[in-house]
Amino acid sequence: MFENTKIAFSNKKSSELLKSKFIYKILSSVTMARLGTSIIKFAIKIRLPVKGIIKTTLFDHFCAGENHEESLTTVNKLGDNKVFSVLDYSVEAGSKEESFEKFLHKKIQTIDFSKSNKHMPFVVFKPSCFGKSSLFLKLSRGDNLLGNEKLEWEKVKKRFEMVITHAINSKIKIMVDAEESWTQKIIDSLMESLMKKHNQKEVWVFTTLQMYRKDRLNYLKKLIKKSKRENFKIGIKLVRGAYLEAENLRAKKLNYSSPICSNKHKTDDNYNAAVSLILQNIENILLFAGTHNERSISNIIHWMMKNKISKDHPNIWFAQLYGMGDHITFNLAKEKFHAVKYIPFGPLKEVLPYLIRRAEENSSVDSNSKRELELINKEIKRRSIQSR
Ligand SMILES: Cc1cc2nc3c(=O)[nH]c(=O)nc-3n(C[C@H](O)[C@H](O)[C@H](O)COP(=O)(O)OP(=O)(O)OC[C@H]3O[C@@H](n4cnc5c(N)ncnc54)[C@H](O)[C@@H]3O)c2cc1C
Repeated sequence: MFENTKIAFSNKKSSELLKSKFIYKILSSVTMARLGTSIIKFAIKIRLPVKGIIKTTLFDHFCAGENHEESLTTVNKLGDNKVFSVLDYSVEAGSKEESFEKFLHKKIQTIDFSKSNKHMPFVVFKPSCFGKSSLFLKLSRGDNLLGNEKLEWEKVKKRFEMVITHAINSKIKIMVDAEESWTQKIIDSLMESLMKKHNQKEVWVFTTLQMYRKDRLNYLKKLIKKSKRENFKIGIKLVRGAYLEAENLRAKKLNYSSPICSNKHKTDDNYNAAVSLILQNIENILLFAGTHNERSISNIIHWMMKNKISKDHPNIWFAQLYGMGDHITFNLAKEKFHAVKYIPFGPLKEVLPYLIRRAEENSSVDSNSKRELELINKEIKRRSIQSR
């Protein structure tokens, strides 16, 4: 199903396809990608004028624009192909109260922008955009907050509530990303209370589960039991997890057992087990499967077929990041499944950390870059044969 490159790249002109080929050619070579990202980091540090090069390469490939208006062309183009969009302001938050307030304002604007377009039924935010990571860490550890911190925490909760209420009033569903495990415990409890409050009849609020964590399957079981006992619905963005290195490094440094599965195979098993549990409870859970893993997606589809679940079941959604996995997103959309792109946007200078992360992730040894390159080459060849 994911092999049809004509559908996969239907929204890309041949010139754009050649540019994607160039990007993935570099990313699929670990040495070249490492060299490239080091050069970019160095050039930025010594203030060389590299903005233009980054804009026409990494930025155009992984981001939709610098603001809402610029991103709209991409959103509409995707929408024409029945692909939904989630706009994600991919700028790292600072650690000051003004920056959290600025983010709140940005998120409210994105909600207002999303409600004006039928192709954008979701919004998303990172917990660290609304409060200091040190607060989440302290509370997750069970430490007491100092006087000033108590006030700051009240503000964090207020920001969560404000943005969620604004989204729901605008009929937009809202997802909260998962970050490092050491800040997650307090977010879990916050998300549980927010889901209980807002997901009474319909799922509006989503938490995120990272299945590279050893404990998440048990957590999911407990969450399902709780939702049944206390009568609310659950929204789950299901991902593998993006902070593998940082998690393992911290565990080693502070001498505790890493919370992350010891190998990729175990993470995959965990992801698939979570999918299976969610699907058995699908009337009560809205699944938003954020993955580029073809096998995980095929598993869900097989289950849907076996259980005679319609392709556009309102509780099953698939999502990939913009610039990655087009063969999955576009083929799913063509087959009438709910397919979504997570679309980063923001001022180029401020999304640089995101772009460098994408470049590093896509150039890791076990990344999907080679597969992306193989499919792009297949499509270039198909077009050239067709035009003869
Ligand atoms: C729509 C969307 C939303 C996302 N939101 C979040 C989010 O809120 N929080 C977040 O953390 N991430 C998020 N991610 C990123 C996600 O967690 C993964 O990092 C990324 O999608 C790659 O995983 P995969 O399932 O797509 O592909 P795959 O290539 O099948 O899996 C790669 C992943 O497997 C795991 N892995 C790799 N090697 C090992 C190993 N040696 N041992 C154990 N596990 C290993 C890692 O999690 C790695 O990222 C999101 C991704 C998408 C598509």
